[in-house]
Amino acid sequence: MRLPETVRDILNKLETAGFQAYAVGGCVRDSILGKEPDDWDLTTDARPEEVKALFPRTVDTGLQHGTVTVLLGGEGYEVTTYRIDGSYSDGRHPDSICFTPSLAEDLKRRDFTINAMAVSERGELVDLFGGQEDLARGCIRCVGDPYARFREDALRMLRAVRFAAQLNFEIEAETFKALTELSSNLARVSKERILAELTKLLLSNHPEKLELLYVAGLAPEMAAHFPGVHLDSRAARLPRCKALRFAAAGERITPEALGKLLTELKSDRATRDRAVLLLTAVHKPLPESETEVRRYLSDIGHDAFTELLLLKEAGYGSEETTGGVEQRTERIAKLRALRQEIAERGDCLEIRGLALGGAELLALGIPKGPALGACLRALLNAVLEEPARNEKTYLYAHAAAWLEAQKKENGGAV
Ligand code: ATP
Ligand code: MG
Repeated sequence: MRLPETVRDILNKLETAGFQAYAVGGCVRDSILGKEPDDWDLTTDARPEEVKALFPRTVDTGLQHGTVTVLLGGEGYEVTTYRIDGSYSDGRHPDSICFTPSLAEDLKRRDFTINAMAVSERGELVDLFGGQEDLARGCIRCVGDPYARFREDALRMLRAVRFAAQLNFEIEAETFKALTELSSNLARVSKERILAELTKLLLSNHPEKLELLYVAGLAPEMAAHFPGVHLDSRAARLPRCKALRFAAAGERITPEALGKLLTELKSDRATRDRAVLLLTAVHKPLPESETEVRRYLSDIGHDAFTELLLLKEAGYGSEETTGGVEQRTERIAKLRALRQEIAERGDCLEIRGLALGGAELLALGIPKGPALGACLRALLNAVLEEPARNEKTYLYAHAAAWLEAQKKENGGAV
């Protein structure tokens, strides 16, 4: 295997200084699979201070874990000293770590065989646990005893499912058995780490592998409260967008339940709110006429509408599809075109875009407060029906008529 030039430069410099150094973990796995790694992690027997002394630009990323980031060619490379993780009394973090001169020890602490391979500057592969074979077979297998490894760090169970989803691999039988038996340990893992893994799982090529969490009983929080969070192969047709895929996962639960789950997992607000909005909308019928589309866009915005169409297109929601898939595809294409036309014409969709402002309405005698808001909404409604109405003369007349009608209704008062 041939490593990128900068990675080789770093390894070379460490070796020339008398240290061992390798690319390790995910980048080796991805390279063997013919995928471009997101980042290159390096491992060495040099101590962090020795690494820092060799390279002009470094960042102290996690000195207590032995990690220094070397900056080279506009990129950062995490260089971590060979280490052994101490015991894990909390099932989350090692109580302590210690450095070791042995590459084998460092590889042994890694979670899965496919993540426990190293490559030298010359491209020689170190594979002590059959990682290559497992990669070829499509198999996620713990390094060592899966029971011990999952007891040490319960997050690894979720990582197993996440890698299965990303790589479309199977979890090896003994590893899966341990995972099933120890699934309740996941409760010890922080919500942030669970959400991070769950998000990677949902954004993968095989989000439907979420089902494995249920098969293994690995989603205690979710399964206990939200037994309806599921995904099937339709989810893979959706773009890799967090809110979309969470909305799909929540298809069988209420939007409120999905919102609650995402809040509990400490999701960011924007993702949560968008997922809830999409899940609410997906169960309702789509708009038909151009006016209805404008109203819809006015309610949820162009981006959310575009995402909603993607969900419907993937087969979500209770669309009455008398004509089957073809008719649905046709309807969605029509709605896309309508949305596009509305965007290109720049039709007014918000109160802000009205040709008449609050000040002009006040001058007409409409009092400040709820009445003003109600009048602006009435004007927007008229404009959503017919965009050509968005000009001063029409809106003045419409506002005056609205005011009269209100007075009549309320005996002179507004
Ligand atoms: P990706 O970056 O694509 O999510 P990765 O394999 O690089 O996948 P990281 O979380 O970046 O995963 O971790 C880098 C490497 O560190 C892994 O390949 C693995 O060798 C090791 N590792 C990470 N997390 C754990 C863990 N919880 N237990 C044991 N080893 C781990
Ligand atoms: Mg990584």
